[in-house]
Amino acid sequence: MVERALHAPLLSAPRVLERLLSAATAESARSHGRRSWVALDMDGTLFDNRPRTLAILHSFATAHRDTLPQLLAAVQKLTLDDLHYTPSQAIDALSLPQKDLGERFVSYWRDRFFTNSFQPLDHVEAGAAEFAHRLVDAGLGVVYLTGRDRPGMMHGVLQSLDAHGFPLMTPQAQVVLKPDFHLDDVAFKRAALVELVKNGPLVGLVDNEPGIVNMALEVLPETLCVRILRPHAPNPPRLDARAVQIPSFRLDVEFADMIATAD
Ligand SMILES: [Mg+2]
Repeated sequence: MVERALHAPLLSAPRVLERLLSAATAESARSHGRRSWVALDMDGTLFDNRPRTLAILHSFATAHRDTLPQLLAAVQKLTLDDLHYTPSQAIDALSLPQKDLGERFVSYWRDRFFTNSFQPLDHVEAGAAEFAHRLVDAGLGVVYLTGRDRPGMMHGVLQSLDAHGFPLMTPQAQVVLKPDFHLDDVAFKRAALVELVKNGPLVGLVDNEPGIVNMALEVLPETLCVRILRPHAPNPPRLDARAVQIPSFRLDVEFADMIATAD
């Protein structure tokens, strides 16, 4: 279960969509018809990548089945809810006595997680493709702004977006990947946002990482910066109170804005 920050409002996806469309209408009037854009993160936002980690864990356990049969038995009982964010948390969830297992798995995981071949295992978030289409249908552009790297993951990115019916390969859809795997995600996205606004106003951004949402608000204080309530990196900063949160992209789930004053 991902905790929401009580000091930032929780809105339904239809409310966020409505606010994005109205911001785009206002920008269009101000900038003589210039297209507005919305940046959408992939990992932990449009896609749940825990199935990718679970599959790699199965592969790791199978490779060690002769020497560590108890590992495979334990892995077979895991569900997605046992996984949080980091691969070592996945191993911790097994509660096995071998102390070096976490380190060995992280190295095995790293060689596979950031590749093309395991990305098709990701689950798409319910309503995410429809949400993107509703933006495009209203004349906005969507930019998939992801920390996945171009050298290692570009084909998998395009395959996943295409397979799940996201707007792609049109003047209203753009994909921005890290040029180098080793770049820090926040620094990469900060630099990308500065460039992206040259294409037109960026009226919204959705990301699962509080650190990215906070950075976006620093760079673009007028942008509606949305945190989707999904697992995020450990030890996140306190979410900026100007951010809003959504429980999902589902446009069929409506509720009144939840606004509290403090955590
Ligand atoms: Mg993410």
